[in-house]
Amino acid sequence: MLLVPLLLASRFAFQAQDTLSPAAHRALADLRYLAADARDGRGVGTKGLEDAARYLAAAFKKIGLAPGASASSYLQSFTIAADAPAALHTDAGGKTIRNVIGMLRGRDRARRGEVIVIGAHYDHLGYGGFGALDPDSTGKVHNGADDNASGTTALLEVARRLKTRHLARTVVFVAFSGEELGDLGSAYFVKHPTDPVDSIYTMLNMDMVGRLRNAKLIVLGAATTEQYPALLDSLNHTSSGAPRFDLRASGDGWGPSDHASFYAVQRPVLHFFTDLHEDYHRSTDDVEKINIVGLEQVADYVADVATALANRRGALTFVAAPAPQASTTGSGYGAYLGTVPDMTESPGGVRISATRAGSPAEQAGLKAGDIITAIDAQTIANLEDMAAALRAHQPGDTVLIVVKRDTMALRLTAVLGRRGS
Ligand SMILES: [Zn+2]
Repeated sequence: MLLVPLLLASRFAFQAQDTLSPAAHRALADLRYLAADARDGRGVGTKGLEDAARYLAAAFKKIGLAPGASASSYLQSFTIAADAPAALHTDAGGKTIRNVIGMLRGRDRARRGEVIVIGAHYDHLGYGGFGALDPDSTGKVHNGADDNASGTTALLEVARRLKTRHLARTVVFVAFSGEELGDLGSAYFVKHPTDPVDSIYTMLNMDMVGRLRNAKLIVLGAATTEQYPALLDSLNHTSSGAPRFDLRASGDGWGPSDHASFYAVQRPVLHFFTDLHEDYHRSTDDVEKINIVGLEQVADYVADVATALANRRGALTFVAAPAPQASTTGSGYGAYLGTVPDMTESPGGVRISATRAGSPAEQAGLKAGDIITAIDAQTIANLEDMAAALRAHQPGDTVLIVVKRDTMALRLTAVLGRRGS
């Protein structure tokens, strides 16, 4: 059992600015723009989100990417349906949001028709409320420096690197909107892609890459092709041969971010992620806590993975996995935690009325009255979220469970069991 109070000081040092490389300075400027208070937490319906879209379009243009939404525009605009699930909990219905798309056409005649999509969502939670884990902070700007100004900044950095590499396949860079409301931008993109969906060779997603600690980099989706584990491993070293990261590559493509929209249409995906932290979906996810040198290292690696994929011969062998189902009662696959939910009311999460004896929940230290607010990167607002989160895991997986206990927030680690055992 591991019990980690949330207020432990963060261990990673913020580098003195005069020691930063020119690339890191450039990235820091992008990050500061995107995560500034003036961007309104990049919430749907805010001026800050619109300004961020324009900033990204201008950056794509300056880098030398071609407009990807039309012959002359980087902005792919769409309106959130009034009956979209997110619109039931927010005032997002009827609002227009925009993906920002830039392209680098491939140089090889035979392969330029195949597309590598590199994406990162640039929206966040605005002023809190829906999706936030700190209901006390509703009304405060949620800057989302890690979630996901970090991935958006890294997207620009990857584009700057790939622009000079003359790749065989086409690369499409997409800054997605509406991710926090349920992957809306990526879901729209796969229905309205720049090139036919079947021509998408793979999709690389960066969501929360700004908190590299102890060099640990998580790459989810590594099991979506037969080729990924060896490819990711072979690129995980510096020019001197030392490993770049403590690399944790595994998993299918059903994670709680935009890559799932691509996996759902049978495309291979990867999700680069520097792990959860105590500021996740809280108003304290700020620029000062970003490891900008680590972000540059992730951008280097993603650029190298994209280069290898853009130039390699042959197809990737897609590996399907069954989709998690948002149901609390179904049996079959999925992992077991062993909580008894309180069905009466769950303010901002799932309140548990008991843990089953000997269960993973009991061993993790969960107690009656705790409110589960997140499992790994997935916000838990209700029982459906919780069922989906557990179904996205296998028995034996270790997960981080964020709970509210009285006025404290705790992070517990559970090793999931097998349903019915
Ligand atoms: Zn988020």
